[in-house]
Amino acid sequence: MTAVPAANTADPSKTERTNLLGLPEAKLVAFFESFGEKRFRATQVLKWIHQRGAENFDEMTNISKSLREKLKEVAEIRAPEVIQQLDSSDGTRKFLIRVTGGSIVETVFIPEGDRGTLCVSSQVGCSLDCSFCATGKQGFDRDLTAAEIIGQVWIAAKSFNQLQPNGPRKVTNVVMMGMGEPLLNFDNVVDSMNLMMEDNAYGISKRRVTLSTSGVVPALDKLGQYTDACLAISLHAPNDELRNELVPINKKYPIAVLLDSAKRYIAGLPDTHRRITIEYTMIDHVNDRPEHAHQLAELLQDVPVKINLIPFNPFKLSDYKRASNNAIRRFQTILMEAGYITTIRTTRGEDIDAACGQLAGTVNDMTKRSERYRAKFDELQTVKIIAPSP
Ligand code: SF4
Repeated sequence: MTAVPAANTADPSKTERTNLLGLPEAKLVAFFESFGEKRFRATQVLKWIHQRGAENFDEMTNISKSLREKLKEVAEIRAPEVIQQLDSSDGTRKFLIRVTGGSIVETVFIPEGDRGTLCVSSQVGCSLDCSFCATGKQGFDRDLTAAEIIGQVWIAAKSFNQLQPNGPRKVTNVVMMGMGEPLLNFDNVVDSMNLMMEDNAYGISKRRVTLSTSGVVPALDKLGQYTDACLAISLHAPNDELRNELVPINKKYPIAVLLDSAKRYIAGLPDTHRRITIEYTMIDHVNDRPEHAHQLAELLQDVPVKINLIPFNPFKLSDYKRASNNAIRRFQTILMEAGYITTIRTTRGEDIDAACGQLAGTVNDMTKRSERYRAKFDELQTVKIIAPSP
């Protein structure tokens, strides 16, 4: 366990300075032009923050002293605060990050060969209450700001010294699959994904930045106007009846409507051959039967997809169990025989509770949902079975 130094974490309510950490290049240009500075200043500052990890303006030695003094008055570089860094024996690294208001969100780095994938949170908790998801049980507090979202990338890259000149490139991929539904925090997610992909910031390829949604169709319908990142759909069921139970937003936007929207998004991308990733959490005796696999194969036959089977990770407030290895392999075989690229996600970071679906953090729950779940759980624990009298 290692503490990571955080940038200035002053309470934003006490300052009106603009936090430059969350501004993509176009907005940073507008910021500099608003007080008569040339646009190339925005590029310089962007590089200092995201490619060199600068935490204050005095480090920016190619900027005049007078401009640095001006920036100190009107702007700041404020990342969220890392309160703990947990390193798993398998190389997975989890960051517990305190955001304004005191809630804790989680960010997980998963190394695999040359690839380093960062799973980034977009909200404090989540309002959608998917029945298999630890975050859903936490209730919802608020959207993360763009600075708090890109701040997770900044923190992870900095923890690996990636933001030093010639530092190693450890964070190669980003998935918006942490806590929260990204499309319910549209503007901030779009700004931060743009920063991930901008050449003067992190320069991550659009094929290596993925937004995962459970199906907020109106937002997905407009996503293509703002980004060309990859898309993943949290599907988890092959029919509406089952998905209504697992992913309640399905009652509003059923599978057919969601897949149509996803197809439009992928068809609108400038490059062809891109596939939608279908995420399917494998839950014992719930959605893991051969007939589910056959239904899924039929459902997706005219959608360009690859399928990722995710063994369910049990957690305290859930009665679900992980599907057996046999059931998962059988499911995979059916899909592969139907012609789908189908992978099984390896569970990583279990010793630090970093596995998929376990991101829970500590949320100032505005919905009181977490209290209700805990009460229900405690009640179940105290039920005693009284043996009938002989
Ligand atoms: S699976 Fe995603 S959308 Fe559903 S409750 Fe969890 S974080 Fe929210």
